[in-house]
Amino acid sequence: MHVFISERVKALTPYTPGEQPQDRKYVKLNTNESPYPPAPGVADAVRAEAEKLRLYSDPENHLLVAALAESYGLSEDEITVGNGSDELLNFAFIAFCDQNCPALFPDITYGFYPVFASVNGLPFEEIPLNDALEIDFADYQGKRGTVFLANPNAPTGIARSRSEIESFLKSRPDSMLVVDEAYVDFGAESMLPLIREYDNLLVIQTFSKSRSLAGARLGFAAGAPSLIKALNTLRYSTNPYNVNRMTSAAGVAALREQQYYNDNCARIMQTRAYTAEALRKMGFLLPESRSNFLFARHPAIGGEALYRGLKEKGVLVRHFAKPRTAAYIRVTIGTREEMEVFLMETEAILAAQT
Ligand code: PMP
Repeated sequence: MHVFISERVKALTPYTPGEQPQDRKYVKLNTNESPYPPAPGVADAVRAEAEKLRLYSDPENHLLVAALAESYGLSEDEITVGNGSDELLNFAFIAFCDQNCPALFPDITYGFYPVFASVNGLPFEEIPLNDALEIDFADYQGKRGTVFLANPNAPTGIARSRSEIESFLKSRPDSMLVVDEAYVDFGAESMLPLIREYDNLLVIQTFSKSRSLAGARLGFAAGAPSLIKALNTLRYSTNPYNVNRMTSAAGVAALREQQYYNDNCARIMQTRAYTAEALRKMGFLLPESRSNFLFARHPAIGGEALYRGLKEKGVLVRHFAKPRTAAYIRVTIGTREEMEVFLMETEAILAAQT
């Protein structure tokens, strides 16, 4: 029989998204979504746009790009938008890596990075984090390639400061650095203020987390106009309508209500501090998180056993089976009430262990 599937696709291990179960109602703390709804005004903006679905969207997404430029003090040619930040990350792999310029990223980071490299036939190297699960920038010295850095990192939640990352950038003037800031609004420092100074820096953010729009699929990239032009070439070479009308309108409406989102982020950070303290009291070990999740392990129970135990009780968290992360669970910060349920069930599981 003739085999129609390419060797590259046959060899591909796809990304595994977090579960989105439909079987029962869970306390859902597994995919780092916001527990709060989109800002008032977003639903109306989407509804108004739904009336116009007969028409293609504006491929330049002019209104959205202009609103982003205003919000972040950038010019329009320094920004492009994508169908989630995943799409822009994929474009960044294609635009800034090739056979002589591998992708470099930590061994413990966003699980999509090796997939983006593989699906595009690009070489990559995973560089181990240290024992504290922190990046050691010295490990990248002398290595040619484009560095992909999630800051805060996922799934650890650990962030490095702007000045540390700037020093790293300065040490690699001839290489690209892509900083994935999916979780930056939960207490980390953005690299956006530096894009004018460094034409080898691309910053990618998402509306999925702090702006409660995971289901709309909206991300943006900011960098020197030449970098943005390359990403737009890829957009126009794949799908110029990558951000649909309703999502574009949702994005504009969301940007008008920054205070609402700032308040939500503050609440999430408070709930994070409360949850982290409660977990530490139970004997969990966890790094300082600057994201909307905690990465925690307990000496008395493995990550998988805890994940399964919690799932049975209707609480969904995430577990990553790779050797260096198997001891941990990653818990999204939900509402205070959701975290009380999570803490209560976790305590019960631990009590049943002993
Ligand atoms: N980067 C990181 C580090 C993430 O955890 C995620 C969410 N899974 C993304 C990017 C992609 O987010 P989205 O495509 O929803 O913008």
